[in-house]
Amino acid sequence: MEMGSPIRIGVSSCLLGNRVRYDGGHKLDLHVAELLAEHFDLVPVCPEVECGLPVPREPMRLEGDPEDPRLMAIETRVDLTEKMLEYCDWKVRELQGAGICGFVFKSKSPNCGLRVGVHNPSPVGRGSGLFAAAVIRHFPRLPVVEEGGIDDTALRESFIREVISFRDGNRLHRGKR
Ligand code: SF4
Repeated sequence: MEMGSPIRIGVSSCLLGNRVRYDGGHKLDLHVAELLAEHFDLVPVCPEVECGLPVPREPMRLEGDPEDPRLMAIETRVDLTEKMLEYCDWKVRELQGAGICGFVFKSKSPNCGLRVGVHNPSPVGRGSGLFAAAVIRHFPRLPVVEEGGIDDTALRESFIREVISFRDGNRLHRGKR
């Protein structure tokens, strides 16, 4: 990223009002879409659509071991885990190339949520959505938050500061090489 260029952060696409959810709807969050847009360049990401699934689509959920869950279509029992992990592997590299300095995830999603219910077959605990887990593995220091952490003023300001400091740290690191 060049000096003076806007700071980019990734955002779960449905939070920006894009109709990418399984039911064809969105989850527009004005605190994310408007307040964060005053500070950052928002990069929309919908892992479910970008990995090739249609809109609308069958709902899915995390199942099995909360530490290493599978992504399963609820009715047809199709296992979507490998398809999603393959996409995540590619996408985190693309996001690195785009120079993202933070990510706002949609809560309760089996792909975007940071702490999501896992079933086996009844609820057995909580784990990370597959895409959120891949982002955190690839960028261990990246500031991340769910939309609830943006709706709250103090948490939002703290996230904004963390993102700016992440960007400044990256600049410093590049300057030393
Ligand atoms: S929560 Fe994530 S996967 Fe689900 S619709 Fe929103 S962006 Fe797409």
